[in-house]
Amino acid sequence: MFNKLFYKKREAKIINVEKISSNLLKIDFKTDFFEYIPGQYIILYIEGVVARNYSIYEVSLNKTVFSIIVNINGDGIGRRSIKEFNINKEIFFAGPMGDFIYNNNEVTHKNWFIATGSGISPFIPMIKNIKDKKDIILFLGARDKNEFPQINIEGINIIYSITNKDTLWNGERGRINRVMIEYLENEKEKEDISFYICGAPHMVMDTKKLLEACNINKDKIYYEKFGF
Ligand SMILES: Cc1cc2nc3c(=O)[nH]c(=O)nc-3n(C[C@H](O)[C@H](O)[C@H](O)COP(=O)(O)OP(=O)(O)OC[C@H]3O[C@@H](n4cnc5c(N)ncnc54)[C@H](O)[C@@H]3O)c2cc1C
Repeated sequence: MFNKLFYKKREAKIINVEKISSNLLKIDFKTDFFEYIPGQYIILYIEGVVARNYSIYEVSLNKTVFSIIVNINGDGIGRRSIKEFNINKEIFFAGPMGDFIYNNNEVTHKNWFIATGSGISPFIPMIKNIKDKKDIILFLGARDKNEFPQINIEGINIIYSITNKDTLWNGERGRINRVMIEYLENEKEKEDISFYICGAPHMVMDTKKLLEACNINKDKIYYEKFGF
């Protein structure tokens, strides 16, 4: 954390703030030339000082606008401030940085992405970047259906699961990692799948343990924990 004080700070201006689900806010920032590898994140300096990490959700074609999505449920200092962000606000950030990126050299043919909440953020640009999308499954978990953002990526299979028992719902129910394991049990060639996991730390570590218990090689499990 101490190191974060020494990253080169860059400036950006908020040009759009948009609610994309009941708990996710998408924020677009205008900055100078912004190049990144899908999966990377930025450090946002809240009120210039408090460092919080946010994965990059989207970058404009001319590479001068980048977007993040933030889960605004919660009372932490970051989320409390971000909820109040308005257009034209100027902020400092550092990055992009991070090594949670899609492994182009992987020998497996199938890619399974598992996310809860804002954990979807790094997966959207990663998946858009994969040329052959036919063997991609995106597993998305939330408490309720209104927490899911709209996802427009053709050619991928998306499995949604909610944990709220009181909601009328035709999709899967229960924790998304358990749902994913049920799908895995029906797979003949488990060794042909790479797994990418992102979201709350306990979900990420539970999913990793479940996969290892199914004899999935650690080298095929890539993950990013949104916390410590
Ligand atoms: C690589 C990465 C990418 C992330 N991407 C996203 C994203 O795309 N969308 C999203 O909604 N959230 C993301 N997060 C989580 C985000 O950084 C914040 O932790 C979250 O918004 C809660 O912050 P808060 O200040 O509201 O809560 P708090 O309760 O204040 O923070 C949560 C806890 O984590 C600690 N903490 C949080 N950030 C840091 C930090 N940078 N250094 C040291 N300690 C810290 C706090 O001290 C506190 O104990 C990401 C986290 C990581 C590590």
